[in-house]
Amino acid sequence: MTDAYEIVIDKIQESKISTTDFDNLTFGKTFTDHMLECTWRDGKWETAVIKPYGPIMVEPSCKVFHYGQAIFEGMKAFKDATGDVFLFRPEDNWIRFNESAKRLAMPEVPKEVFVEGLKALVNLDKEWVRYGEGLSLYLRPFMIASENGVAAAPSTEYKFMIVMSPAFAYYKGDVRVIIASDFSRAADGGVGYAKAAGNYAASFYPNNLALAEGYQQIIWTDAASHEYLEEAGTMNIFVRIGDTLLTAPNNDRILNGVTRRSVLQLAADAGVTIEERRISVKELNEAANNGSLKEIFGSGTAAVIVPIKGYKHKDFKFELPQLEDSYAQRFKEALKDIQYNRADDQHGWRV
Ligand code: PMP
Repeated sequence: MTDAYEIVIDKIQESKISTTDFDNLTFGKTFTDHMLECTWRDGKWETAVIKPYGPIMVEPSCKVFHYGQAIFEGMKAFKDATGDVFLFRPEDNWIRFNESAKRLAMPEVPKEVFVEGLKALVNLDKEWVRYGEGLSLYLRPFMIASENGVAAAPSTEYKFMIVMSPAFAYYKGDVRVIIASDFSRAADGGVGYAKAAGNYAASFYPNNLALAEGYQQIIWTDAASHEYLEEAGTMNIFVRIGDTLLTAPNNDRILNGVTRRSVLQLAADAGVTIEERRISVKELNEAANNGSLKEIFGSGTAAVIVPIKGYKHKDFKFELPQLEDSYAQRFKEALKDIQYNRADDQHGWRV
């Protein structure tokens, strides 16, 4: 790849933006005018193309439909009060994307295609990034196996694409969780740490069962013993016992969250005692019973930080206390201040 990376741009004739109702958006349903597409063929990446958002043509035998060779990322762009637009830690997502690609036997995507592609695409559709509390543009880079043929082997052709969807802060209501005691999300030596499409497909059925019981999410536990907390459906998990902030260490079953890493940094900056270590359900229940369990919250790009109101594990149920000065609220505000360019960016997260 040369220094001046070239992206071909085919602009839309007329923008859809004037017919888009920004006050009534459903998350992930509305897409901006343009998308990026880059094909890997004959062992190399072709020139990336930005073109009008629309359907793509693939054959029914296309490998992604049969073997699920597909990965994605989730990230956001934010607009500040002056109209400047920022990505948040895009290189972190690029690195994680390529870790996923490697595990799924897919080609790694060059930084120029991923990061410069994002910048070019966001720049072209920047009117779609709205300024205001909780408003952002959700960015969805993904890659699929696009070779035709149903032989069970890695594809020889791939499509890397980016689509973008305007998003707003929505209050989803209270979140209560079930701590998994039989189903598993990921196995040792498996693909849990990758953002592989199939990980999400596999979680829908247990999650539906939880929903039917009145719980919005599942906190997954380790597959071997179901004794240790790992992460939630699309969030990493934090627990506050006393004033100590705990989170499970990364391993090959857990997605290495960018928001998790950011919260850990902000907590360290604030002088909070942090423990990255295994947290057993037994320890959690004991802390619940002796009054030292103060908070549980999830962290992820989509909702930033979500306080958990209550949890259930087998027959044990617990409602978390309402706190005046919660870590969840504190770190959510601190993170948003950086994302919306209202606070110093000490760690160079805005791009
Ligand atoms: N765990 C899983 C399984 C996820 O899908 C996500 C969302 N990407 C997260 C954790 C949180 O990661 P991040 O903070 O990078 O969005």
